[in-house]
Amino acid sequence: MVDMKPRRRVRVSRTAICAGADLLHDPSLNKGTAFTEEERDVLGLRGLLPPRVHSQDDQVARSMENYRRKETDLGKYIHMMSLQERNETLFYRVILDHLEEMMPIIYTPTVGKACQEYGHIFRRPRGLFISLKHRGQIAEILQNWPYVDVRIIVVTDGERILGLGDLGADGMGIPVGKLSLYTACAGVHPSQTLPITLDVGTNNEGLLNDPLYIGAKERRVRGQEYDDFIDEFVHAARQVFPHALIQMEDFGNTNAFRLLKKYRDNLCTFNDDIQGTGAVALAGIHSALRITGGDLKDQTILYLGAGEAAVGIANITVSAMVAEGLTEEEAGRRQWLVDSKGLVVKSRTGLADHKLPYAHDHEQVGDFLSAIETLKPTAILGVSGQTSMFTKQVIETMSKLNERPIVFALSNPTSKSECTAEEAYTWSKGEAIFASGSPFDPVEYEGRTYVPGQGNNAYIFPGVGLGAIACEACRVTDEMFFAAAKTLANLVSEPDLEKGRVYPSLTMIREVSAAIATAVAEVAYESGIAGRKRPDDLEAYVRSQMYVPEYESYV
Ligand code: NAD
Repeated sequence: MVDMKPRRRVRVSRTAICAGADLLHDPSLNKGTAFTEEERDVLGLRGLLPPRVHSQDDQVARSMENYRRKETDLGKYIHMMSLQERNETLFYRVILDHLEEMMPIIYTPTVGKACQEYGHIFRRPRGLFISLKHRGQIAEILQNWPYVDVRIIVVTDGERILGLGDLGADGMGIPVGKLSLYTACAGVHPSQTLPITLDVGTNNEGLLNDPLYIGAKERRVRGQEYDDFIDEFVHAARQVFPHALIQMEDFGNTNAFRLLKKYRDNLCTFNDDIQGTGAVALAGIHSALRITGGDLKDQTILYLGAGEAAVGIANITVSAMVAEGLTEEEAGRRQWLVDSKGLVVKSRTGLADHKLPYAHDHEQVGDFLSAIETLKPTAILGVSGQTSMFTKQVIETMSKLNERPIVFALSNPTSKSECTAEEAYTWSKGEAIFASGSPFDPVEYEGRTYVPGQGNNAYIFPGVGLGAIACEACRVTDEMFFAAAKTLANLVSEPDLEKGRVYPSLTMIREVSAAIATAVAEVAYESGIAGRKRPDDLEAYVRSQMYVPEYESYV
C-alpha cells in the first residue's frame, strides 16, 4: 500500500504556495523544466517533470523555435496565449526579449484577427466576463477574481474593437492584450492587472448567428439600462479594488465620450482611444516637426475621421498649441475634421457633441481631396478605420502643398490603414513623414531606406498607468498625457529622425515607460492628486516598482 499524500500547500521562503501538480498548473508560479533539483524535492515535483533542469534561456529558445514554426500570425498568437496560460514568467521573458517581433502578434494587427475568431480559437477563459444577468451582483463577481491587489483594470464593452466594429464579448482579446503590454512595457506586475469585458449584447449579426460565439445572444442594451449597468460596475470596482485605475477601451464613440466626461473627475480613469491616442499622435507630430523645422502653432491639421481618435488628438494638440502662445480659439481653427458625411462645419445639423468644438464656420466640402485643396493642411491624420482613403492623388496633392508633408495613417489593423508605408513614400517621392497605427516594414525608395514609425499607444498608456499607480493618483488628467507626449517626443534620437522614424525603437520601451511614469507622477505631485508621500528619488522609486520576469527561488 502506498501512503496517499493529501494535496498540500508548502510554506517556502516568502509565501505559501501550492505544490506538486497544482504548482505546475498555476501559471503565475510554474517554472516548468526550470524548477531546480532542490525545489523538485521540497515541492513534490519529482517524476512530474522530465529529469533535466533547463535554464530560462533554454526555455526561451524552445518557445521561440515553436513560435517560429507556426505558419500564420494567428497560430503564433495562440502559441503565445497558451504559454501565458502555462508559465507567465516565461511568457513575459519571451516578449521582452523579442518585443519588436511579438508586438504585432500580441497586439495590433493580430489581436484584431484573434478577436474576430475569439469564439473559435477559445481554449481557456482569461479575465472577468460580466454580463447583464449579473446586475445587482457585480461586486460579488469581482470578488471571484483570485488576486486582491488589483491596480489596473482594462475594461471594454466590445462595441468598437480597433477599426473592426462591434465584436461583443469576443472583444476580450483587447483588455487581455493591453494588460500584457502593461506588464511587458511598463513592468506592472501581472497579478495587479485585471481584464474585464462587460457583455451588454452585440448588434453584430454574424456573431448573433454564430453557434460558437462566447457572449450572450442578445442585442446591445442602450440608454438608462446601459448607464445603470456601467454605473454599478464602476462603483463595484471602486469598492472591491479601491486602488485600481480603470482604463476604458474600445467603447463605441458616443458612450466613450460620455463615460469619460461622467467619471473622469470622480475616479482614477482614462480612455486610451481618446487620451492615449492623442498623446501618441502629438508626440509623433512633435518629432515630425524636428525634421521639417516647423512650429506646432503654425500647423494646419486635417483629420480623416471625427471619432475618438481624431477628437482626442485634436484636443491635446490644441492644448499644446496654446502652450506655444495661441489662444484656444486660434488653436481650434487649426484642427479640421472630415467624417463620413464630409467636412465637419457649423452649418451641418445633427452633429455629435464631440465634433462641435471643431465645427467651424466654413462652407461644406464633400470629399477629403477637396478639403485638402481648400484648407491646405500641413498634416493629414487618418483615423477613419477606412482603408485606402489616402489615394495617390491625396498624397501627391499634399506633396505639392508641402515640402515635407506629414502623413499619419493611423487606422488599425493593417487592413484598415489609409495607405501603406510604401505608397506614402513612393507617391510623395520620399518626402512624406509617415507613421502608421499598425506596423509596416522599412521601405527602400531610390536607394534610401525609410523606417516608418508606428504610432502605437503602447508608447504612452503603460507609462501613464504605471505613473498613476506608483503615486496612487486619484485622477488621470490631461496634463499627465501632455507630459507623457513631451517625454516620448524627447526620447526620439537624431539617427531615428534621419531614417524618417518619428518614434523611438520599441526595444527602448521600458526606458520610455519609466521616463513617462516619472513625468506623470511628477504632474500628480505638482497638482496635489497623488495619494502617497513623494519619495526623494521619484524615478528610482518608479523603476523599483517595475516587475522583471525572472524566476524567484521557492526554497
Ligand atoms: P470612431 O468610430 O470613434 O471614429 C471613426 C470616425 O471615422 C467617425 O467619425 C466616422 O464618421 C469616420 N469615418 C467613417 N468612414 C469614413 C469615411 N469614409 N470618410 C471619412 N470619415 C469616415 O473610431 P476611433 O476610435 O476614432 O478609431 C478610428 C481608427 O483609428 C480605428 O481604425 C482605430 O484602430 C484607429 N486608432 C489608431 C490609434 C493609433 O494608431 N495609435 C489609436 C486609436 C485609434
